[in-house]
Amino acid sequence: MLLAKLRDYSERLEDLGPLGYAEAWVRYEVHLTGSGELVNPEPIDLADAKTKRGQRRQAPQVTRASGVKPLLLNDNAEYTFGLPRQEEDPDKQASRAERTAASHAAYMGLLGECAAATESPAVQAVLTFLRSAPLDQLRLPADYDVGGAIAFRVDGRLVTDLPSVRRFWADWALGDESTGPAGDEMQCLICGRRRPALRRLPGNIKGISGGQSSGMALISANAKAFESYGLENSQTSPVCLECADAFTKAINTLIRDDRRSYMLAGLAFLYWTREPVEFDLNAWFRDPDQADVGALLRAYRAGGPPSPVDETAFYAVSLSANAARVVVRDWIDTTVGDVKRGLACWFQRQQIVDGYGQDAPPLGLYALAAATVRDPSKDLPVTTPRTLLRAALTGQPLPNGLLHQAIRRNHAERDVTRPRAALIKLILLSQDDSYQEDDMVKLQPDHPEPGYHCGRLLAALEQIQRAALGDINQTIVDRFYGTASTAPASVFGRLLRGAQPHLSKLERDAPGTAYALQRTLEDILGALDAFPRTLTLKEQAFFALGYYHQRAFNRAQAIAAAERRRDAKAAEQAAQAADV
Ligand SMILES: [Zn+2]
Repeated sequence: MLLAKLRDYSERLEDLGPLGYAEAWVRYEVHLTGSGELVNPEPIDLADAKTKRGQRRQAPQVTRASGVKPLLLNDNAEYTFGLPRQEEDPDKQASRAERTAASHAAYMGLLGECAAATESPAVQAVLTFLRSAPLDQLRLPADYDVGGAIAFRVDGRLVTDLPSVRRFWADWALGDESTGPAGDEMQCLICGRRRPALRRLPGNIKGISGGQSSGMALISANAKAFESYGLENSQTSPVCLECADAFTKAINTLIRDDRRSYMLAGLAFLYWTREPVEFDLNAWFRDPDQADVGALLRAYRAGGPPSPVDETAFYAVSLSANAARVVVRDWIDTTVGDVKRGLACWFQRQQIVDGYGQDAPPLGLYALAAATVRDPSKDLPVTTPRTLLRAALTGQPLPNGLLHQAIRRNHAERDVTRPRAALIKLILLSQDDSYQEDDMVKLQPDHPEPGYHCGRLLAALEQIQRAALGDINQTIVDRFYGTASTAPASVFGRLLRGAQPHLSKLERDAPGTAYALQRTLEDILGALDAFPRTLTLKEQAFFALGYYHQRAFNRAQAIAAAERRRDAKAAEQAAQAADV
């Protein structure tokens, strides 16, 4: 179960901090004596001159999107001193002052409860100080930040570090309204102990784009998945505060860890292993190294017994944010060995020559996802990276929906880019186990699909046009890619007739070129019995690959021919020089 695995992971983390505490910015410290007198009238500013943020520290935290909710002994000047922020709009100042008074009253109420419950002299000292007109005693600097959190030290010791204060906060947070008042004692779904159950999960997950920065609560995407994630908003799946705190901290730690998280298009993809092992998944997705991928593929082909690392349990979860909630999109529970196998399939299936017919490095996940939309920074839906990630890890087939998006981009751009060609090939091969390893990596003249040869034909006709006319504004591909790839019979007759004058011209000007082009044309036409009337989505995918492969082949041939001419010329010049 997801939550139990996260709780287990949290046990591996150092410095998780106390229950109900989280890392937060602390801007100021006020130092007091044991009797609540100021040691220094100016608060200590913990910020450096540049960022003005203070220090990161473990401090009491709850989620507060709206509504008054004090943080114990670590809150801003509105809560701590009742000092309102200056509103730019003077009309709003009155309501700001009112709200600040309520916030301060709540803070003092909480502090009073804490002093009574803990009987701590240090908490009492802070209470004494705050009850005796603290703003008259303090000298706040001109650049004082009302929003900065204020911590207290009494006799040099941070009050929030006291064990009694921590225990008080843990109990208080349990009864906090963000998690619901503590429910009946029930058996916790995760740890199995009888504990007061939370009615709702605490909303302290931070750092997923698209969500509120003050923190979000974890929920499940659909009711059916509740059971497998261990998430349910009711007392039938009770979770205790300790477990909730632990898995929340595990998620936040994973989000902040560059090697265990991958963020793309609003999706946060987190992964970890049961035991710590050397396996950096992130590199495979972000910037896959050609040599590493080669080694992975060789190991995969060679087979052999799994290494001990391969048997390590591997977990991955994809999350997306929606206002105050974090939605669990996917939960994968597998092994490192299976992930490696999935990745090997992933990279093998996406292998394709570059636009010039040469071997090309593997593509990262972003390049593949971005190939499906016009503007990846705006148009990429969260489902795209999620689907790709899942397929990369599990080797599962990719859906036709993704193929449809890629084909649509080909039509819109009248071009088949390498990332798109790689993605199309990846999708096709993921759907059919009968493909061989080297299928469709490069031009395949014996390909069984008529759609493939129609794509090749368009590339050949484009080449003839270019050879005859040079670079022109609008090529036949610009004009006819869409029709040719969906309804070949309606357009290829006309395109072939249109190529005849170009070929005749070339026969006069460059007979060698004309001959070669004519032969390519005949080869392709020889592979086609007739032009298909229409092509299905999948056949359009073959069309795209045929076009891409033939164009890459043509360019490679052109480059090789130019090199041969250059070499011949150099040899001729050398011979002439020798004669002289
Ligand atoms: Zn528990």
